[in-house]
Amino acid sequence: MQLLNGKDVAAFHRNQVEQQIAAWKKQEIQPELAILLVGEDKPSAMYAKSMQKVAHSVGLKAEIYDRSADISEEELLALIDTLNTQPAVFGILPMMPLPSHIDTQRILNRIDADKDVDGLTDSSAARLFTGKKGFVPCTPRAVMAIFDYYQIPLAGKHVVILGRSNVVGKPLAQLCLNRNATVTICHSQTPSLQTFTKQADIVIAAVGRAGLVTKDMIKPGAVVIDVGINRVNGKTVGDVDFDGVSQVAAAVTPVPGGVGAVTTMMVLENTVYGASLND
Ligand code: NAP
Repeated sequence: MQLLNGKDVAAFHRNQVEQQIAAWKKQEIQPELAILLVGEDKPSAMYAKSMQKVAHSVGLKAEIYDRSADISEEELLALIDTLNTQPAVFGILPMMPLPSHIDTQRILNRIDADKDVDGLTDSSAARLFTGKKGFVPCTPRAVMAIFDYYQIPLAGKHVVILGRSNVVGKPLAQLCLNRNATVTICHSQTPSLQTFTKQADIVIAAVGRAGLVTKDMIKPGAVVIDVGINRVNGKTVGDVDFDGVSQVAAAVTPVPGGVGAVTTMMVLENTVYGASLND
């Protein structure tokens, strides 16, 4: 079984990002990633901090715009308007979820399409689904980066995706389809996941249920990508029973150290290169 090591994939992309930022520094260009953090959500605060740390480590300025949970929708829109007009701000990354009194999609859609580094606006989604260049959500991009790094072909393969969220499952399905895979999407109403996963050349689990994907669900020689992040007894685990599935699969991503390790780097790459890399 081949371990698909997200840290190696991230290191490859980090190198390219660092080179671009160093070149800009010589021209006295200092791009900024604006991270929007609203309210008290702990995982969001942790993700914002770790995002900032990684950005700084490649020489990218990253500012956390920390606002209290009772901020009004209009105030939040005004903040986005300001960031949209600041030339130094290359990317705007809102932490999710936003407080419940805020219309999330209204806020997201206010982000300038050229700064929508996590591909969250309706216009980015429309671009992806109509095959135009644009920002693609970073987790699906990370999965594609893993396929590319390990030269795993998708054309003609049957890809089964577990999960249909707007940020992971659906964009992933479209990206795999763009690479000429045959795609099946399963979700909570799918009666027998195993019926589908057993046929798959590639299984991508993006559900958020620890240990959902077991050895008996996998065709021998399949590739298994684990997007899930779950906390079990103080440990971070994926959706895939890694030890069991490793016995039958040809290749598996670990958790931690798999997709998540690449996702952060995709945010930085999007910030630096804009949408030019995404198709
Ligand atoms: P989400 O919005 O909660 O969506 C979960 C999806 O899983 C839904 O489509 C849901 O189906 C489906 N589902 C739930 N229970 C199921 C079951 N028993 N069998 C089959 N499908 C089931 O989650 P998300 O934002 O897509 O994230 C998915 C996972 O990826 C989470 O663990 C999250 O933490 C992780 N994640 C990781 C990264 C990373 O960088 N590695 C980034 C983002 C998210 P319905 O649509 O029918 O409800």
